[in-house]
Amino acid sequence: MENKESIKNLTPEDLREAVKSCGEPAFRAKQIERWLWRGLAGSFDEMTDLSKGLREKLGQTHNVDALTLDKEIKSSDGSRKFIFNLYDGAKIESVLIPADGLRTLCVSSQCGCALACGFCLTGRRGLIRNLTAGEILDQIILARRALRPDDALTNIVMMGMGEPLMNFDSVAQALKVITGESGMGMSYRRITVSTSGIIRKMGDFGRLGLAKLAVSLNSPDNEIRSQIMPVNKKNPLPDLMAACRRHPLRPRERITFEYVMLDGVNDAESDARALAALVADIPCKINLIPFNEFPGAKYRTPPGDRVDRFRRVLLNNNIDALVRQSRGADISAACGCLGGE
Ligand code: SAH
Ligand code: SF4
Repeated sequence: MENKESIKNLTPEDLREAVKSCGEPAFRAKQIERWLWRGLAGSFDEMTDLSKGLREKLGQTHNVDALTLDKEIKSSDGSRKFIFNLYDGAKIESVLIPADGLRTLCVSSQCGCALACGFCLTGRRGLIRNLTAGEILDQIILARRALRPDDALTNIVMMGMGEPLMNFDSVAQALKVITGESGMGMSYRRITVSTSGIIRKMGDFGRLGLAKLAVSLNSPDNEIRSQIMPVNKKNPLPDLMAACRRHPLRPRERITFEYVMLDGVNDAESDARALAALVADIPCKINLIPFNEFPGAKYRTPPGDRVDRFRRVLLNNNIDALVRQSRGADISAACGCLGGE
C-alpha cells in the first residue's frame, strides 16, 4: 500500500477540516467517524453514504487503515496474538485474551521500549518509535474485524509493547476515540493503561480521566527497584507512591499494582509485608505476575508455593491480590514477551 497518512490519525477537528477542504459540509466528518470506529470500514469505497467525489478526494491524500495484519497465531489456551505491519516495515503485536466471559485486547503503545527493564523482552531491543494514534486504534479495529460479530471486545489494556506515558499525546488521542460517543463509545471502566511510573505524565493522565491506572511496582524497595527497572532512578519509588496517592479515583475505582515475581529477587515474605505497608493507604488491588522466562533471561520464575505464600501475606494484611497467570506462553504472547522475534 502507498505510504499516505491514515485518516485514523486525524483528530475530529482535523477530520472536519479535511472534509471542508474537499468542499463538503463538516457534518460529513461524523459519518466518516461512524464508518471508521463503528463500521470497521477498511476503504473509502465502503462509506456508501458519502458522495463518490468525496471518497475519491479523501483517497488521494489518505489511507483508511494504519496497519496491515501480518499474521495471527492462536494459543492452545484460547488467546490469540496479532502481528501487525507498520507502514515503515516495523512490526507490533497485540494479544486477545478471552477469560471469564470477557474478551480483553492487550494493545501496544510503542514499537519497542526505551526503558530497558531487566525482566522484559520488549525492552531488549530499545525503542524503535512511538505509535501514532491511528496505529494504536487500528490494533483494536483489526482485532474486532477478526472476531465474530457477536464476540465484541469487552476490555482494553495498554499493557503490550512500550510505555504509554512516554507516548502520551498519541495515547490520549486514542483514548478519546475509544471512549468518545462519536468514537467507539467504550466506558473508561473497561480501559486500563499500565505505566512503569513516569511521574511527570501521571498528573496529565489522571486529569484526562479516560482510563484506569495500573502501575508496575515490582518491588517495595527503592534500591532493588532501580536494579530491575532503570526508570526508577529518575522516578524513585517514594515520589511514585506520592503520585499514586494524588491520582484521582472515582467511587469504587482502584489503582492496579502489577508485581512481576522474580525468584530470589522480590518474592520473600518480607517483601510482601513491605509491599502491604507501602500501599496500605491507597485503594488498590495487586496483580502478581510470575515471571515469564525467555531465552537469555537472567531471572527465574519463583516456585508456585512461594507465589501463594506471598499472596497470602498480602491478603492477611487486607490487600486484595490475585495471581495473574500469563496467557499465550506457547505463542510468545505472555506479559513481557512481545516483540522478541
Ligand atoms: N511499559 C508499561 C506497559 C507494559 S505492561 C509497564 O511496564 O507497565 C507489561 C507488564 O508486564 C508490566 O507490568 C511488566 O512489569 C510486566 N512484565 C514485563 N516483563 C515480564 C515478564 N518477563 N514476565 C512477567 N511479566 C512481565
Ligand atoms: Fe518497557 Fe514496560 Fe517492558 Fe519496562 S516492562 S521495558 S517499561 S514495556
